[in-house]
Amino acid sequence: TPDVTPLVAGNWKMNGTRASLDQIKAMAEGVKGPLSDKVETLICPPATLLYVATALCDDSPLMIGAQDCHEKASGAHTGDVSAEMIADCFGTHVIVGHSERRTDHKESDALVRAKAEIAHANDLVAIICIGETGDERKAGKTLDVLKAQLAASVPDGATAENTVIAYEPVWAIGTGLTPTAADVEEAHAFMRAELTGRLAGEGAKMRILYGGSVKPGNAQELMGVANVDGALIGGASLKSDDFLAIYRAY
Ligand code: PEP
Repeated sequence: TPDVTPLVAGNWKMNGTRASLDQIKAMAEGVKGPLSDKVETLICPPATLLYVATALCDDSPLMIGAQDCHEKASGAHTGDVSAEMIADCFGTHVIVGHSERRTDHKESDALVRAKAEIAHANDLVAIICIGETGDERKAGKTLDVLKAQLAASVPDGATAENTVIAYEPVWAIGTGLTPTAADVEEAHAFMRAELTGRLAGEGAKMRILYGGSVKPGNAQELMGVANVDGALIGGASLKSDDFLAIYRAY
């Protein structure tokens, strides 16, 4: 998208212990340099590593975010992490509505929207994930699903600054399968039109990432598709060499 800085974001999921901090250190070093003016980078480690990871990135353009937040500000919600806590650890972003949370924790679009709203209230960028299942794609419902998820998961207060959309076909996550470039182009053009229709200029500039089996070998092709403004990377974000290779595909 013209005049939009792409974002290369990694989602570590439930992986990573203190030993993995070496990977973050290597990434923080690896993204230093002129390319970092043109491409933003973000790693979302598990919450246990958030605070120490942000400290490691003090003098690096690499940003650190979280993988989820609770929709309420605070209170009796054992085991949950609030948006305020993420911001307090110097996290800058939070992923909301990842398909694994929609499945494992039965998260609805309305809940995802509430999480994005509390993220915004705490000055966090919300990365709102949407995407069709394999059955929905086979039934020809992909664009209908994306339309409904965008309408119900994206808050009215979403701007190009505070919100990133991540299009992640559920069947492409962790499977090694990816849609064709033509299918990615169709989905992203559709989401761009929906976002612009609802949010005008903010929707026109809002970043729409592609996610689902992005690897060093396919990053260049996927990132070159119109309206693809970066990537959300699972497996290939765990190793600094892979993550940096995808970053350098720009
Ligand atoms: C993800 O979890 O957001 C993801 C896209 O995973 P992977 O890259 O492993 O398919």
